Amino acid sequence: MTVRDLIDRALRHAARTLGGKADVVARGPGRVNLIGEHTDYNSGLALPFAIGQATVVAVRERTDDLVIVCSDQFREPVRLRLDQIHPGQVPGWAAYPLGALWGLLGAGVPRDRWRGFEASFVSDVPSGAGLSSSAAIECALLVALDDLWGLGLDSAALAAAGQRGENDVAGAPTGVLDQTAVLNGRREHAVLVDARSGDVELVPLRLACAGLALAVVDTGVSHAHSTGGYAARRASCERAASQLGVTSLRELGVEDLAAASGPLRAEDARRVRHVVGENARVLETVDALSVGDLDRVGGLMTASHMSLRDDFEVSCPELDLAVEASLAAGALGARMTGGGFGGSAIALVREADLEAVETAVRSAFDRRGFGPPRVFSVQPEDGAAVVIPADSR
Ligand code: ADP
Ligand code: MG
Repeated sequence: MTVRDLIDRALRHAARTLGGKADVVARGPGRVNLIGEHTDYNSGLALPFAIGQATVVAVRERTDDLVIVCSDQFREPVRLRLDQIHPGQVPGWAAYPLGALWGLLGAGVPRDRWRGFEASFVSDVPSGAGLSSSAAIECALLVALDDLWGLGLDSAALAAAGQRGENDVAGAPTGVLDQTAVLNGRREHAVLVDARSGDVELVPLRLACAGLALAVVDTGVSHAHSTGGYAARRASCERAASQLGVTSLRELGVEDLAAASGPLRAEDARRVRHVVGENARVLETVDALSVGDLDRVGGLMTASHMSLRDDFEVSCPELDLAVEASLAAGALGARMTGGGFGGSAIALVREADLEAVETAVRSAFDRRGFGPPRVFSVQPEDGAAVVIPADSR
């Protein structure tokens, strides 16, 4: 769906669900992570980009202290008073947008600056597929409220508010990478995020010009961040860093790996090898992009997958099959993306080969008795922004 189509759909949904005309409309895209997985909570590097699939929110001010949120994905709106928005008190999906509102407290926006509002969301970001529908919905609302209330917050403050809400209100122990990508994305660019310094740098990524696209294979296997695997990987990285006497695994380079593995238990040493190698692969990817060597980018993606599969052990049979089938059908490279244990794989594919890759993945899934995957392609698009500003009223 084009951005225009999605906005039109949002306005039609808002006309049915809001108590009157919207005051502000904003768009928050999903994101994919080209490379740099499980590095963010190790103060490392990642190279995500915002995609065309997005959540659009239409917000209307109220004169009382009620907040009403509704989504085209859920029948019932959620209604709360502003003073009821606290961790543990926001039900279901509303914990994502209203968690982001709560997160504004930490950005220096006290409750007496809050006003009641109605927000109506529509989205074409598949939910739970590893494309960060959660950051899309949070960031769409945050940029809308920033405009409506004249907050003037920068993207780092908005990203932190989204993360705080997701951690404390939605209960998902995630880093700030998704919100950073969603807020800073730019058409035909990836976003190099350095979790140690907080620096964000745009890196040209002209896939379409090179006749390429990124195919996303949503395996349909649901990943749940709050369950054991993700927390166990974080714990393993923290234990290894403390045993090695470094503040984070970012302090280690590939040249340190041989010496570093000595004191560690074998499993932790493998986790460290992934994180350290992955940081290096992100920098190599940036380097390859700077000279337009997309074959090398593909090779680095595939190397990332093997490291996530064998050393970090966060893949699953469906993700491995999506990667293998894509490569066999001519992809330049492929890897799982997101936290793992399900979710999506991505493949760098010539546009002319997109159909062949999709067919190959579908029939491979069918042969193995896996449920049919969803396959679509993405391009780097603009990050979250207001599309109809409040001052245009
Ligand atoms: P991901 O971010 O990978 O899509 P998450 O589990 O982090 O997966 O977030 C998905 C959750 O976010 C959904 O279960 C739902 O609660 C909420 N969500 C995301 N987008 C929407 C939307 N458009 N409408 C309502 N809830 C949404
Ligand atoms: Mg998410």
